[in-house]
Amino acid sequence: MQLYNTLTRKKEEFVPIEEGRVRIYSCGPTVYDYAHIGNLRAFVFADILQKTLEYAGYKVKRVMNITDIGHLSSDADSGEDKMTKGLLRERKELTLKNMRGLAEFYTEKFKSDLRALNIEIPEELHFASDFVKEDIELVKKLEEKGYTYKTSDGIYFETSKMPDYGILWGGKTTRDKDHARITENPEKKNPEDFALWKFSAKGGSASGGNVLGFESPWGVGFPGWHIECSAMSMKFLGEQFDIHTGGIDLMPTHHTNEIAQSECATSKKPFVKFWMHNEFVDFGGTKMAKSSGDFLKLGNITEKGISAVAYRFWLLMSSYRTKVNFNWEALEGAEIALKRLYGLYNELATSKTDSELGAISPKYQKKFKSYLEDDLDTPRALTVLWDILKDENISLADKKTTVLDFDKVLGLGLENLKIEAIPEEILELAEEREQARKDKDFKKSDDLRKKINSLGYEIKDTDQGQKISKI
Ligand code: AMP
Ligand code: ZN
Repeated sequence: MQLYNTLTRKKEEFVPIEEGRVRIYSCGPTVYDYAHIGNLRAFVFADILQKTLEYAGYKVKRVMNITDIGHLSSDADSGEDKMTKGLLRERKELTLKNMRGLAEFYTEKFKSDLRALNIEIPEELHFASDFVKEDIELVKKLEEKGYTYKTSDGIYFETSKMPDYGILWGGKTTRDKDHARITENPEKKNPEDFALWKFSAKGGSASGGNVLGFESPWGVGFPGWHIECSAMSMKFLGEQFDIHTGGIDLMPTHHTNEIAQSECATSKKPFVKFWMHNEFVDFGGTKMAKSSGDFLKLGNITEKGISAVAYRFWLLMSSYRTKVNFNWEALEGAEIALKRLYGLYNELATSKTDSELGAISPKYQKKFKSYLEDDLDTPRALTVLWDILKDENISLADKKTTVLDFDKVLGLGLENLKIEAIPEEILELAEEREQARKDKDFKKSDDLRKKINSLGYEIKDTDQGQKISKI
C-alpha cells in the first residue's frame, strides 16, 4: 500500500511497525461549537484510511482526542481560549464544570454527525481534560531534560534545543517563512517556542473572580494545546506509532510541536512514521472556518432534504489531498448520482432471478483495492463501482455481493438501504410472464406486462433475466 507521507513529501510503501497491526491517532474536534462540513472532511478521510487498512487485512487501533481545554484562538499561544469563547457566547458562568457541560453537548452533536456520515467512531475517543495528569507528567519530563523555560504567562518549549525542529516543514527555510506570521511574544527565546503550560489569569466577572484551571507543579492553569495529543497518543498507542492524521492547517504548528515535545521527551525518533493530512474544504473561495462564523453544518445540508451520505459521496469524488470548493450545485449533483446508485443496487437486491449468495468478483475487487491502496484514490475506486454495476457479464448475485463488499470501505450505506420489497403478487405475475415467454406465448406475456404496469411496477428483460422496479 502506498500512502503519501507529509514527513517525506512523497508516496511511500506503508509497512506497519508491528506486523498485521496499525496504530492511528487522529486529531479530533475542538468542541466549543458545532463541527462544520470542512472539519467533517478530516473525519471522513480518517475513516476511509482506517477502512482501507482493514480491507487490506490489518487490525487497526484508532485513537482520537476531543479538545475541550487549552486551545487558544491563535496557534501562537495568544488570543482567547476557544472553550471560554463558547461559554461566553452561551452566556454561561466560566467554571470547569460548565466547560465540561459545553464540551459534552457539542461532542454528542459531533458523534451524531459521524454516525450520519457512516464514520466509525474510533475505539478510543476521549476528552483532553481527562488526561491533564498525563500532560503534566510529559511536561515534567521535558523540564527534567532541560527543554523548558518559564515566562510570566507559562512554561515554554525551547525549540532551538532541538536540532531538527520543524522537520515536518520539509526544510528550515520554508518553516521560517511561514512562521513569520506567528506573533512575537517578547519573553519567548525563539519565535517558534510554544506553551506547554499556560498560567491562568485571575478571571473577570464571568468567572466570579475565580481562577479557572487545573492544579499543576507550576501553578493553576491549562495545558498547552499541543501537549494533549502527545500525551494521549502515547498513552494509548505507545511512544512510537504508525499514522497520525489531521487537516493540513495542523501541520505547521500543532503537529510540528507534537513531534518536538514527544521526541524530546522519549529520545525516540520518529514519533510517528506516517503523517497524513487532508486538504481543505473551501467555501466561497476561502477556507471554511468556525472562527469566521461563515460555515455550514451538516444540519444545513440535511434540512434541505439532501442526505448526509451525499456529502460523504461528494467528498469521495476527490482525493483527500485535493482542495475542494463546496457549492450546492455540486452537492446536488452528488445526491442525484447517489440516488442512481441506490436505484441500481435496489434492482440487484430485489431481483428474484438470482440466488441470494453471490461471490466477490476477483477482477473488480483487485482493481478496487489497488486504487484505494494507491494513497486512498477514492475517485478511481468509485469508477470501479459504476463499472461493475454496468457489466452485463457478471451475475446479479455476484454484483450485489461485490458492491456490498466495496461499501465496507466506501460507507454509502448500501447494506442498510431500505429496500422496498416487491409485492408477492407482482413476483407471481412476473414468474407467470417468464413462463409465457419460455412457451413463446407472446400475447400472454405482453398482457402480463401491462397488468404489472397497471399495478405500478415495470419489468425489463435483460441477459440476466427479468428486472422488476417501481415505476
Ligand atoms: P477543529 O475542530 O478546529 O480542531 O478541527 C478539526 C479538524 O478539522 C482538524 O483536523 C482540522 O485540521 C480540520 N479542518 C478545519 N477546517 C477545515 C477545512 N475547512 N477543511 C478541511 N479540514 C478542516
Ligand atoms: Zn492534535
